[in-house]
Amino acid sequence: MSKRSPTRMCLPLLALLLISALALPPSSWAGQPMESLGVPPGTQLPDTAKAPDGAGPPSWTGKAFRQGVVSVANPYGAEAGAQILEAGGNAVDAAVAVAYALNVVEPQSAGIGGGGFMMIHMTKSGETVFIDSREKAPAGAARNMFVGVSSPSTKGIAVGVPGMVRGTALALEQYGKKSLAEVMRPAVKLADEGFAATPRYVSASCNNRALNYPETKAFFCPDGIHPRVEVGEIVTNPNLAATFKTIAADGPEAFYSGDIAKGIIEGQKRYYGTGKPGTMTLEDLTNYVPAVRKPVEATYRGYTVKSMPSPSSGGLTILQMLKMVERFPIGDAGQGFGFGQTNTLHVMIEAMRLAYADRAIWMGDADFAYVPAVGLLHPTYVDQRSSMISLTQRITPNPIAGDPRPFDVAALANGQRFASAEPVTGPGETTTHFCVVDKWGNVVSYTNTIESSHGIGVFAGYTQPDGEFRNFGFLLNNELTDFNTTPSTNPYTGTIGTNDVEPNKRPRSSMAPSMIFDPQGRPIVAFGSPGGATIINSVFQVAMNLIDHGMAIQPAIDQPRISVTAASGGTTMEPGFSQSTIDALKVLGHSISVASVSDIGSVQAVDIDLQTGKQYGGADSRREGTVIGLPRPQGKNR
Ligand code: GLU
Repeated sequence: MSKRSPTRMCLPLLALLLISALALPPSSWAGQPMESLGVPPGTQLPDTAKAPDGAGPPSWTGKAFRQGVVSVANPYGAEAGAQILEAGGNAVDAAVAVAYALNVVEPQSAGIGGGGFMMIHMTKSGETVFIDSREKAPAGAARNMFVGVSSPSTKGIAVGVPGMVRGTALALEQYGKKSLAEVMRPAVKLADEGFAATPRYVSASCNNRALNYPETKAFFCPDGIHPRVEVGEIVTNPNLAATFKTIAADGPEAFYSGDIAKGIIEGQKRYYGTGKPGTMTLEDLTNYVPAVRKPVEATYRGYTVKSMPSPSSGGLTILQMLKMVERFPIGDAGQGFGFGQTNTLHVMIEAMRLAYADRAIWMGDADFAYVPAVGLLHPTYVDQRSSMISLTQRITPNPIAGDPRPFDVAALANGQRFASAEPVTGPGETTTHFCVVDKWGNVVSYTNTIESSHGIGVFAGYTQPDGEFRNFGFLLNNELTDFNTTPSTNPYTGTIGTNDVEPNKRPRSSMAPSMIFDPQGRPIVAFGSPGGATIINSVFQVAMNLIDHGMAIQPAIDQPRISVTAASGGTTMEPGFSQSTIDALKVLGHSISVASVSDIGSVQAVDIDLQTGKQYGGADSRREGTVIGLPRPQGKNR
């Protein structure tokens, strides 16, 4: 950003041809030279500075809007948000509409059976907050409940108390203009009348995790055959439509009581008579309260980056990595620090290894455990960590977590708790990130999830007296596997792991809805990603592409990414980096695996040119990223 002119980009609508019924705006595949995207003429671009293989044609249109932009990983989700903006809603209203619509069209990724983090910036008040609807462990959860359990992510004990319905209701009440019933309308329509299956729906909805339990198999892949539907076939979900109508008519509390609550409680026990049923009770549902949280933040080369605090590890880890690489001349291709060049990738890999070592020990739910958030970002501590990075070789032996406690203003009290590592969730078909900016300049950046693809793989529901299954049409999350599944000990203190299971605690997340602010504190970019622990790396890299490499938003998303999620871990690289760079990284001591497809994350973003007031969107072709800007081109309204 620091180096770019304000030419900004907008994504084409990947699945547009398939959804003509919705009459989304026209696709535009007009490629533009890098020079017109804000990269100063004469900048030496490495041959890796191009769209990754398989990502499709360049998708940069530079189209600007003024009445709002919605950027979502699915075209129907984007359409739902755009409709609410057109009906006078603000960014919060539109974001809630998107979240419910995605439950219909990306049911394997997110929905009312799960939770997420909604970052909101309100222009008028200048306030930036998170609505934390992260699932909680039930009161009956125990620290060792996953010990000896095979495939815990498909078991009832993995289900956390879902937060999305109360979280979205709270967001509307505090920051929205419309009622829950109103913003749910597009989702109800999608569930009732159906949508034409997109390529990603076809490939992601019927996978192995959809096959474990009969009702799920019947819905997603009736004959156990993939794919269940052809691209373009109409998919409805009448059970979910009925659930949505109940919530719309009776309010959010209808989800946490009565029939739907019964479906959640029975659903987590349905297939687990002897095999680890969930322990969630009506009381757990009644007691669930979303939290309102303040961002963690740090400056990076003059910009302020704000992101998700505890119970996520996302914000702290991203900010630590940015601060560790800030001392290097990233962006200077002449010194070998251009995009995709060896020095750049090497220091990024080392920052990832150092930060993930800290994450494993020090991050978790700060409502339950001591998280030294100040110490982890303290300039002296970050300098100490960064000074371990040498340009001539990989850090050996593998770095261990540092001790940020001396730098933490919240001093350590004896007996406080710490954590060690959890299993890492890799990229896949799970979770979803979307962004909205409205005509008033309010911005939302929202990551929503049911954790693994299809959560535990069971619909909320129960067997009625007549023997019929009463199916509520939404999947139950498996978020509790984000806890340490093996009880752990903090090596510095000997006390229990920060992210060990405890009753009513939230599992540590990696989700990192984020925003970048200009020196005057005005938001200029909102972005985020799914991808389990790789979320952190995707957000980190897009921030660097924008700030260090001077890219516009769409190319910043399109560039190939890398990921390391443990101090001892190898580096996964998306296709698109040069062989000479890969060879040079190996010489430095890194173990590299180049993926055959580009699937690290799925970043959706909006950005705002403060000088002109123009708004832009960027979305990821790794999934079905779709940008809709308002006003729509004439004749293209529904
Ligand atoms: N449950 C994960 C988290 O909270 C997100 C899963 C994903 O992105 O695939 O970090």
